[in-house]
Amino acid sequence: MRLAALLLEDLAVLVPAFTSGSRLLLFAPHPDDESLACSVLLQRAVRAGAAVHVVYVTDGDDNPWPQRVLERKWRLNATDRRRWGRLRRTEALKALRVLGVNGSATRFLGLPDQKLTALLICDGQSALELLAAIIADWRPTDLLVPSICDTHPDHSALAVMLRLVLSESFSDAMAAGRMAVWSYVVHGRSSAFFDRSKTICQSHREAATKLRAIRCHKTQLKLSRKRFLAYAGRPERLVKLGVRDETIADGSTTSVFRLPHSLRVALRLAPKAMRMTEPALFVLGRDEAGALRCATMRVPARSSGVEMLDSASPDDVAGARYYGNAFAGQLTIPVSSFSSASAIFVKLERRSWFFDEAGWLEIPPAKSRPIPEPQRDEIEAGVVTIR
Ligand SMILES: [Zn+2]
Repeated sequence: MRLAALLLEDLAVLVPAFTSGSRLLLFAPHPDDESLACSVLLQRAVRAGAAVHVVYVTDGDDNPWPQRVLERKWRLNATDRRRWGRLRRTEALKALRVLGVNGSATRFLGLPDQKLTALLICDGQSALELLAAIIADWRPTDLLVPSICDTHPDHSALAVMLRLVLSESFSDAMAAGRMAVWSYVVHGRSSAFFDRSKTICQSHREAATKLRAIRCHKTQLKLSRKRFLAYAGRPERLVKLGVRDETIADGSTTSVFRLPHSLRVALRLAPKAMRMTEPALFVLGRDEAGALRCATMRVPARSSGVEMLDSASPDDVAGARYYGNAFAGQLTIPVSSFSSASAIFVKLERRSWFFDEAGWLEIPPAKSRPIPEPQRDEIEAGVVTIR
């Protein structure tokens, strides 16, 4: 009996339990993410009498293939895209009505679709301030955010923005239990997410309502009907975010180790059949003055042969080996321009179509105690290899 009570208590912590006092805030990168990943959660929040607010960060207007097919028009200009964005907003409002969410509880930010990564790494501060103001105004008890493990670059970039905002402005609310933050994945099968996620069991009725909500997104069903409708049968999953979570390796990044002035990133890139653009490694964080900075490193994909990369580039690259366009090695990245008191985010960008192989990794702040720079062998032993 006591064990059952403990298990129930554990479950209550690991999945949201809405009440009439709950205030749910959902950040959706695009119109349709609410239906694909959060339909059951939204239905439960509404049934519990919770206040619900949904924020769409982009209008999903840079979505040319279904638009070309539906509008029978090859060249799309800015006016066409705005029209498509308005259509997608209408579809989202219809889907929310099906889920019982009042359309007036919705906000569309209209940030650039397919360009949230560029916004994050070039000029993310104003977006961060906007997101922080929305959270502060709404005062959510439960916050649903995309996962940094999602393979859609807009999803993972928004996830990084929200992690920065939460750690900088809302860590007290999270630590005190006044705000629970849950992340969801729409795209990809990241084991860093799925191995830790909790499944939301859905009833037949909830799944049927979810299917009706997904069907409201007619523009998206045009070319991806089977894939979209399959989401209705896939249970929703969440990972609860802590104030300071450990780094979980994902995708081609097999380990990350943060030293006071450098970051050691071990990569193992599987060969790709298609020749593609050279992969890039993004390193993002705050500098000592608090400004958001992003360093970009090239990780060249060589066409053939095995060779060592020299250290002539601005970034010291050690122990890199190329086999075809595969790669295995460890990069040493100077991070002394980043504040040791802030987290650093790393992403290897190696896209197929517009999807990433994996999302971003968050590396917690360096420990305040200075760590002597170890020799290479010691680093190898100290590397935190998660998978
Ligand atoms: Zn999306």
